[in-house]
Amino acid sequence: MPVRSRFAPSPTGFLHIGGARTALYAWAFARRHAGTFILRIEDTDVERSTPEAVQAILDGMQWLNLQHDEGPFFQMQRMPRYREVIAQLLADGRAYPCYMSAAELDALREAQRARNEKPRYDGTWRPEPGKALPSIPEGVKPVVRFRNPVGGSVAWDDAVKGRIEIANDELDDLIIARADGTPTYNFCVCVDDWDMKITHVIRGDDHVNNTPRQINILRALGAEVPVYAHLSMILGDDGQKLSKRHGAVSVMEYQARGYLPEAVNNYLARLGWSHGNDEVFSMDQFCQWFGLDHITPSAAQFNTEKLDWLNGEYIKKADSARLGALLRPFLEQAALNLEAGPAVDRVADLLRDRSPTLVAMAGQAHYFYARPAVAPDLLATHLADAARPALAELTGKLSTAEWNKASLGAAIKATVAAHGLKMPQIMMPLRVALTGQGQSPSVDAVLEVLGRAESLARLKPLA
Ligand code: GLU
Repeated sequence: MPVRSRFAPSPTGFLHIGGARTALYAWAFARRHAGTFILRIEDTDVERSTPEAVQAILDGMQWLNLQHDEGPFFQMQRMPRYREVIAQLLADGRAYPCYMSAAELDALREAQRARNEKPRYDGTWRPEPGKALPSIPEGVKPVVRFRNPVGGSVAWDDAVKGRIEIANDELDDLIIARADGTPTYNFCVCVDDWDMKITHVIRGDDHVNNTPRQINILRALGAEVPVYAHLSMILGDDGQKLSKRHGAVSVMEYQARGYLPEAVNNYLARLGWSHGNDEVFSMDQFCQWFGLDHITPSAAQFNTEKLDWLNGEYIKKADSARLGALLRPFLEQAALNLEAGPAVDRVADLLRDRSPTLVAMAGQAHYFYARPAVAPDLLATHLADAARPALAELTGKLSTAEWNKASLGAAIKATVAAHGLKMPQIMMPLRVALTGQGQSPSVDAVLEVLGRAESLARLKPLA
């Protein structure tokens, strides 16, 4: 049977990092098996669903390049279908109308609690052979309840958590349609998974409790029960449940913080799944390796340091033009005049080895676009009087030197040797004058990218 997986977010907020991992796994699983990946928007909670959240989900998926093959389907557009299936279940006697009012239900639960019983629907309106149902109250619109099997249990072999078995007696006759006729959440999921011929349900383990109910409904529908894989939650750096408190939770926030989508994907891939000791791999590679059998059942802990390291690895090997294009908006945000300095991709190339994020890179790049204010103290620390004649000679040489890294480096070395100095005695004042700071890429490389005129202007105070 061809694999069909889906990602089924509720559009009640941004695409968060846990949702993105679920989407990534469901997507990779479909790719691995040359199957179909479906995007379904579960928007039946009309109070909390917003078009902005739908857009945020689409944006997040697009940024991560998780392309769906079918959809997005919107549950709100499938209402007629749900009603049709409810009518069929009623006609087949697999569901029944229940006229118990909210007040009666409350009283029932209250009484059960008082007897130390688990509050549950007592089956008052459930038809049974030979059972007389109460007379239908006037003017009351019924809810529709699913006729859950009695006795026995419902079990499945969860691809992540192993076998899970729940006694049917633990499960109420679930309301599948409210009094106003609108279908309820678990029911819509079943009809969708059935209609969309989903073979593998990969989702967060907050849905484990829904699964036995869904399996029973699917069976009543005569649907094939999919394989379930429930992913454990993601904990924050501190071991607590990941939440806004941990800073970036939204996927798009990672873009804003200067992460590359391939680094986020690679990081999420490893967050709860492994392939030996492989840490850095492409999405193509991931799609070839990914299987449900190597997903860890325990909770995964987010580790920002590791994400930064991975991001740095991807920054190191990104194509120059692309890296420049990715860096550009961060420089623009810092209100730097990019026309006044070197091409952004040259700067990115120079800084790529020392930047965990694009934000960090932009922070280091500022001196290429704005002349730095050189702190007199800093310069004084690094500039010995003994070095002044050599620096004067060197700036003279630089006004005519061939302007490339090799000959600039050679000119510096020759000057250091000729004056019997140590390398840092020349290098450090140059660095501070050029960049305003004590750390930077190699000075010959900075000179090269900065250009002759600007470099000489910055070196003037040394001579
Ligand atoms: N809409 C659910 C959620 O966002 C997912 C349901 C499912 O995958 O079955 O948590």
